[in-house]
Amino acid sequence: MDITRQKCPLCECNANVEKHVWSSREFELDVSCRFCGSFLITSTAISELKPNESKRIQLSHLLAEVILKGRSPITIIGNSQKEGNFKDSPRTVDDILRDYPKSIPERMDRALSNIARLSSGKLGEEICISNLLSAKGYLQIFAMDFRETIGIVEYLKNLGFLSVSQEGTSIKVIMHPKGWMHFSDLEKNSQNSNTAFVAMWFDDSTDIFAECIHAAVQKAGYECKIVNRIHHNNYIMDEVINLIKESRFVIADFTCIPEFIDNENIYGGVRGGIYYEAGFAKGLGKNVIVTCRDDDDSKRRRHFDINQLNTIFWQYDNETLRVGKFEFIEFLCERIKATVGAGNNVAMFYGREK
Ligand SMILES: [Zn+2]
Repeated sequence: MDITRQKCPLCECNANVEKHVWSSREFELDVSCRFCGSFLITSTAISELKPNESKRIQLSHLLAEVILKGRSPITIIGNSQKEGNFKDSPRTVDDILRDYPKSIPERMDRALSNIARLSSGKLGEEICISNLLSAKGYLQIFAMDFRETIGIVEYLKNLGFLSVSQEGTSIKVIMHPKGWMHFSDLEKNSQNSNTAFVAMWFDDSTDIFAECIHAAVQKAGYECKIVNRIHHNNYIMDEVINLIKESRFVIADFTCIPEFIDNENIYGGVRGGIYYEAGFAKGLGKNVIVTCRDDDDSKRRRHFDINQLNTIFWQYDNETLRVGKFEFIEFLCERIKATVGAGNNVAMFYGREK
């Protein structure tokens, strides 16, 4: 397969592109762009995006942010395509765009965070946002065009976060202590986040549970991020840590099943990863809602450290779940609203096999 220099289908800068042809009409591009990073995009997604320039720019913003956060590449499919037909947990255009900042202050916070990520960490360093050779550097700070770049850096300057120097199309900024402190706060508390991370383990029996959790989180107004780690690559723990950092709260399920040995590996039993993820979230000051299946295997294996936590014990009840005499979805939804407050968004699965 040949790599050619052609225009990035999102930002239209020169990029390295490898074309994978599927049929006479369908293909996929493997793009490596200096701003949007590495990503795969299907011909259906490209034609859906073609007439909508602002959607393309917004996708560039989100991909640039993904790259600056050190995330693994994304596969973008059209809204009319089915995720189940692709490997590597693809995301539809509209699904990705749901992460776009919902207000000016949120967009400015995320612009500042990207500027901090562009820095090598040296204090007093001049960080280049835009120069003659890469005038589209503005994509990295959520600006729609070069003109808006000036508006954004001036906004951040007026808040005391940075200083700005401009010569023609060259814009450089220096982060001030207040800017670094604000960035650090944003990384820590994610108070504006509308996502819930679910720490749970998957096996054949957990489908109904995952669906009920998803329904409860959605009902409470949040996006549900459940990672099926069985189907992911080695980057999964980095991804999990990032998702926890960005989430408003975490739901951790401490259900245990009897251990079994297969090829000298022990499976089942206590899921240590759940303790790790719940503890990490707690340490970041996040609300952690604890659930566990109401059975002896789980109750006897729970570590005494978590015995004091207010746990929602659930049971299977045909095709659904209940908590005592209550319906699980309702019960968990009320717990979320009581401890975290209601969210304001729709739900989605993240990286889960359909
Ligand atoms: Zn690009």
